[in-house]
Amino acid sequence: MRGLLVFAALLVAVFGQETFEGDQVLRITAQDEDQIILLHDLSEMEQLMLDFWKEPVDSSLPVDIHVPFHSLQAVKAYLEANEIQYTVMIKDLQAVLDEEQREMQGARSAQPRNTDAFDYANYHTLSEIYNFMDMLVAENPNLVSKIQIGTSYENRPLNVLKFSTGSNRPAIWIDTGIHSREWVTQASGTWFAKKIVIDYGRDPALTDLLNRMDIFIEIVTNPDGFHYTHTRNRMWRKTRKPNPGSSCVGVDPNRNWDAGFGGPGASGNACSETYRGPRAHSESEVSSIVNFVRSHGNIKAFVSIHSYSQMLLYPYGYTRTPVPDEAELHALAKKAITDLASLYGTRYRYGSIINTIYQASGGTIDWTYNQGIKYSYTFELRDTGRYGFVLPANQIIPTAQETWLALMAIMEHTKSNMY
Ligand SMILES: [Zn+2]
Repeated sequence: MRGLLVFAALLVAVFGQETFEGDQVLRITAQDEDQIILLHDLSEMEQLMLDFWKEPVDSSLPVDIHVPFHSLQAVKAYLEANEIQYTVMIKDLQAVLDEEQREMQGARSAQPRNTDAFDYANYHTLSEIYNFMDMLVAENPNLVSKIQIGTSYENRPLNVLKFSTGSNRPAIWIDTGIHSREWVTQASGTWFAKKIVIDYGRDPALTDLLNRMDIFIEIVTNPDGFHYTHTRNRMWRKTRKPNPGSSCVGVDPNRNWDAGFGGPGASGNACSETYRGPRAHSESEVSSIVNFVRSHGNIKAFVSIHSYSQMLLYPYGYTRTPVPDEAELHALAKKAITDLASLYGTRYRYGSIINTIYQASGGTIDWTYNQGIKYSYTFELRDTGRYGFVLPANQIIPTAQETWLALMAIMEHTKSNMY
């Protein structure tokens, strides 16, 4: 395993971008608990270098695995020998990434002069999104400001947009892209930011909201990882901080919070995609938000946005104990996903993290809920796995539009019920 990893690292060092030629994404539908256990066993075979996009939970939820070309034969033989059914969701991952790059290159030729000219229907690099933020602030100085809540491990600014029309207001927090490869989330965050400045003064609901509350949006919550997805490895999820004593880099910033930290549903193995880190809040991308939430002291709703799976989730993830506000959070989630579906018919599942996906410890919204932020939610945006993390750019705007309806439902409810 170590030899393979070093070799892979060398390849990247020599050739730059990691490629995924011939890699496939398989969708597996386990028939029973025995097959789930067999899939867990498969995930432990480190030499296969499998990347579980959706982990085995129970037979009601599909499992998606990104399989490197060199492991395809072995994985398919294993599945067939155990009579586990699968379909090929993505036949050649690199072909999908090449198409994504072609679309981005086409859009890149025109550097937008202002945020009206920004191409919301395409994916953008870190510097393009940072430029977008600066333009939005410059165009709307009385509504939007940029605050830096910290710096990433590689010393990039952790920028947050603040939408505010008064002082000392209660606030709503939205973050996108804490997992860097979930590109539709940063793209949606960009669209949300523009949507707010368009709607303020025009849409009565948003106007009333911003006359009483502030909105904070951190669009690129994991900038090191995001930069890395553009330059080295499109499939990067974690932070980019080295782990002493390991050749594997990075911590899962959604397992690093001080809420059931170190419990089941997070890994102690630095090479795992769900590595929790050496201690709670060890990642500056996490601790900067922790410090911000504490010093602000008046955040009423906290929404952390991921992809993919089409789910709207509330705490807890680390324990089966229901939150005291479960009935209210459940009813609000139902309202939000109903509003979301009204636009394009996109169907979401909803419920607590532990009952809807799996047990996960150290997650963002478990921590924020325990800080007293009642309206703590996590989204998993489109799709349900046809493209997974490589959602075609033509779905960005529809995804952002429908998600906005759900966000408005949550924000309006928060405004009406915050005291
Ligand atoms: Zn995620």
